[in-house]
Amino acid sequence: MAAEFLRKFLGRPPALVPDVAAAQTDLDRLGCERPTLAGPAAVLRDLLPDLVPRTPAGVTLPLTRQQAQIRRQGGVPLLRGEAIALDLPAVRRRWLRICAVLGRHQDDTLARRLAAAVRRGSLNLEDLWRQILAGSAQEIHAQAEGLNLSPDLTATVLRLTLLPDLAGLHAALAPLVEGISWAHGCCPTCGSWPLLGEYRGLEQQRFLRCGLCAAEWEVPRLLCPFCTNRDHRSLGYFSIVGEEARYRVTTCDACRGGVKMVTTLSALSLPQLLVADVATLHLDLAAADRGFAV
Ligand SMILES: [Zn+2]
Ligand SMILES: [Zn+2]
Repeated sequence: MAAEFLRKFLGRPPALVPDVAAAQTDLDRLGCERPTLAGPAAVLRDLLPDLVPRTPAGVTLPLTRQQAQIRRQGGVPLLRGEAIALDLPAVRRRWLRICAVLGRHQDDTLARRLAAAVRRGSLNLEDLWRQILAGSAQEIHAQAEGLNLSPDLTATVLRLTLLPDLAGLHAALAPLVEGISWAHGCCPTCGSWPLLGEYRGLEQQRFLRCGLCAAEWEVPRLLCPFCTNRDHRSLGYFSIVGEEARYRVTTCDACRGGVKMVTTLSALSLPQLLVADVATLHLDLAAADRGFAV
């Protein structure tokens, strides 16, 4: 059933997301305003048209409503351990396109090696997909190291390659569990750690966002998603002078984890989420300087 679902759903052309053009304009502006982010902004600008969710209309889902609700209530990410077939030729093409864009803008040698690893099969995308669904993404780092590839770059390219499929799966599954809260730090759909968070709307409710499937889930303002610490004495935040109203990093002294937080009026669309990640890359470095991993 799952294979049929994905065969239909991945076989469709990507839906046109109007936010892509607006996000590209934002990236152009970002590159001008912050020359140090011009490189990553240019990369994402070229990648964005390829990173829109696949439209899952009118297909059979890999989980029934009841199965999905049992998982959500039991604290199990919806896709954990699911055997879902992947449209490998399409995913391979996307991987190679992403490597080509990286090669044009950044380190051509590293990008070529990543492309070659998939072409010759030493990096097997189907295995990586299974590891993501199984919740064992850490094995991907070890595999990349074993092949003398950059683990961070491999993880980034993999995340972007699978994003359209996982975001489409998330969009299809989310209605099945609407209204059932998720009180955990990891993504309720794929189990990944949050890419960043949003303080949303007038009430500044805190939402976390997944960088693998674009899921959103509301969490308490005082919660470390990584170690579930709720003690205000060891939870804090920092911001950069002049950016206090837009960006901050919430921090946890217990596990030294941090989450980049952006202030938003409403939920960020997928392109906006990716732009927000690039626009806050300086906070990754600022957090590392303070001894926090985001
Ligand atoms: Zn996710
Ligand atoms: Zn923590």
